Amino acid sequence: MRGGALQRNEFSSTTSGNTMDTVSKAKRSALMARIRSKDTTPELVVRRLLHKLGYRFRLHRKDLPGRPDIVLPRHRKIILIQGCFWHGHANCQLASKPKSNIDYWNPKIASNRERDKRNLSALLADGWQVLELWECEIRAFCNIEERTIFFMEQNTPVKN
Ligand SMILES: [Zn+2]
Repeated sequence: MRGGALQRNEFSSTTSGNTMDTVSKAKRSALMARIRSKDTTPELVVRRLLHKLGYRFRLHRKDLPGRPDIVLPRHRKIILIQGCFWHGHANCQLASKPKSNIDYWNPKIASNRERDKRNLSALLADGWQVLELWECEIRAFCNIEERTIFFMEQNTPVKN
């Protein structure tokens, strides 16, 4: 799936001042809910961006450590979309754990982080370049486009 069925530019067309001023408040909140549910899934945001930039990629390749989210084989690059809660993003609001069942969550998330580290080391050792994007950064549109373009335009390393 490369996002072909999704309409692009929904953000720009729905957040422009003119459009917002002419729709009613109820319509607007319905619209925003629709956009949120459909378009801000962090992985979809990044996929659509890459698609727009003309990069071809594969998803969740099972033959690579950790089944990385987005793989660009020709560039030997990988983009990981990390959910803040499950991957234990440090100092992140989305990663705050439920107050109950701490004995359950703490070891689970700690072991996820350990596994992430092992997978990352294995990918790097195998000559992949890896960009990690966190869910909270994508949701806040934290220079995602600039960072992705910068990452993709870096020289592809020679495999050892
Ligand atoms: Zn986060």
